[in-house]
Amino acid sequence: MTPSKDVARTAAAFEYAPAPESNSIATIRPHVGLFIDGDFRDGSGRAFKTINPATEEVLSEVSEATEVDIDRAVKAARAAQRRWARLTGAERSKFLFRLARIIQERAREIAVLESIDNGKPIKESRDVDIPTAAAHFFYYAGWADKLEYSGHGPTPRPIGVCAAVIPWNFPFLMLAWKIAPALATGNTVVLKPAETTPLTALLFAEICQQADLPPGVVNIVTGAAATGAELVSHPGIDKIAFTGSTVVGRQIAKSVAGTDKSVTLELGGKAANIVFDDAPIDQAIEGIINGIFFNQGHVCCAGSRLLVQESVFEEVIDRLKRRMAILRVGDPLDKNTDIGAINSKSQLDKITELTESGLAEGADSWSPECTLPAKGYWFAPTVFTGVSQANRIAREEIFGPVLSVLTFRTPKEAVEKANNTPYGLSAGVWTEKGSRSLWMASQLRAGVVWSNTFNRFDPASPFGGYKESGYGREGGRHGLTAYLAPTHFTTSGSR
Ligand code: NAP
Ligand code: MG
Repeated sequence: MTPSKDVARTAAAFEYAPAPESNSIATIRPHVGLFIDGDFRDGSGRAFKTINPATEEVLSEVSEATEVDIDRAVKAARAAQRRWARLTGAERSKFLFRLARIIQERAREIAVLESIDNGKPIKESRDVDIPTAAAHFFYYAGWADKLEYSGHGPTPRPIGVCAAVIPWNFPFLMLAWKIAPALATGNTVVLKPAETTPLTALLFAEICQQADLPPGVVNIVTGAAATGAELVSHPGIDKIAFTGSTVVGRQIAKSVAGTDKSVTLELGGKAANIVFDDAPIDQAIEGIINGIFFNQGHVCCAGSRLLVQESVFEEVIDRLKRRMAILRVGDPLDKNTDIGAINSKSQLDKITELTESGLAEGADSWSPECTLPAKGYWFAPTVFTGVSQANRIAREEIFGPVLSVLTFRTPKEAVEKANNTPYGLSAGVWTEKGSRSLWMASQLRAGVVWSNTFNRFDPASPFGGYKESGYGREGGRHGLTAYLAPTHFTTSGSR
């Protein structure tokens, strides 16, 4: 059987009846305000709309925070910070455990709202994003009363008021990555979610009320880029925790130069997922699929450059295409959906433009036959072969369900090609030999190297990048460092 007939036959064998998750559990308010000092209030800017990218339906009108609102939020966070930091670690930890438990209790509601506002498949928000967010709160709740044993000196001190600015690809999870360690260490937070995905952050504000978190400890200000820029440049901010694009990360780094604000930047990536000829190929195929099609490829650490050893190239590509042919693209709320909607029209345009550049530069593209919904923003899973290292699709972050495949002959060549990128966030290695995995990990210039797996996250494990992927680590004990004031020891060991 030729591969294409085989692909068609496999696809036909897997017909699924619709299995939609009910959206009735999520309350979508027609208008939502800013969350400042424990209360919701209207912003002084022009309210904007957030839509469901799978249907283009308007979900809510959301307040825009301008300078005055940001000032109010930062002042509320400052006033709250003194009291919050004076609580014992055990007291703060009780609040964090409470937040974690409420997230678990309301997990289904948060997951549905996340999928509606973002477009991601419900099986991902339900099984990955929200449980991992709860796990981050549980994890940092455990640190709050043990900070003096965390390797940050005998009396670790918080930095103060943190500005957290997050992207749209993992709205609730990124919020957890920032807020949980900040609160555990005695800081307070003003968080700005992305313009296209503000709803679960505003639901988290309700959760803070439900947990009786003292007013001002967490503040949520909504808006677009101007609101983010206003927040990070406010003189009352002591620390900036940013996750987003390298372009904006660079602007933020420039804007704080010469101030005493501390900054961590979690930026873009163009990860190599490297398959050796001795790899367990079935597992590797699942890892490649998960690496690039999880969350529509809207993943900073996505395995967007597949490096395959030449001797298994044809086998890997054939099997990959067969697997891609049974990916289900469509309604994010359907429990069988593998690939949901692209988050916004502008992201869809960016993916389309980069994909066209791949064709123009001579690479070959392949997508399975799939009927995309008429309304909303969609992109079929795509694989490019015949890619050269100089092509834009091998260098730039596409941030969509598009995989570029390159080949290599020797481990040394794999390392050279993998490291030939301005980024350095993550990488994957598929091989039967543990010694080769370890050697590759020592050679790859990437913050995270997965071996025979991909896109695995654990709150105890630090995450972050090299080079243009940013600096600082989130998660684990390392993640505390970003939220604690630097410790200076004298030669006698006392401060
Ligand atoms: P983005 O355009 O940089 O936006 C990120 C956040 O910054 C959004 O809230 C955005 O607001 C805000 N913003 C935009 N301009 C700003 C400015 N001048 N000053 C302050 N804030 C500003 O990134 P994105 O397109 O939303 O997200 C995708 C990027 O995030 C990708 O490059 C991805 O690799 C990266 N990412 C990295 C990680 C990591 O851990 N390394 C994790 C996830 C995503 P609006 O969106 O409302 O305009
Ligand atoms: Mg939206």
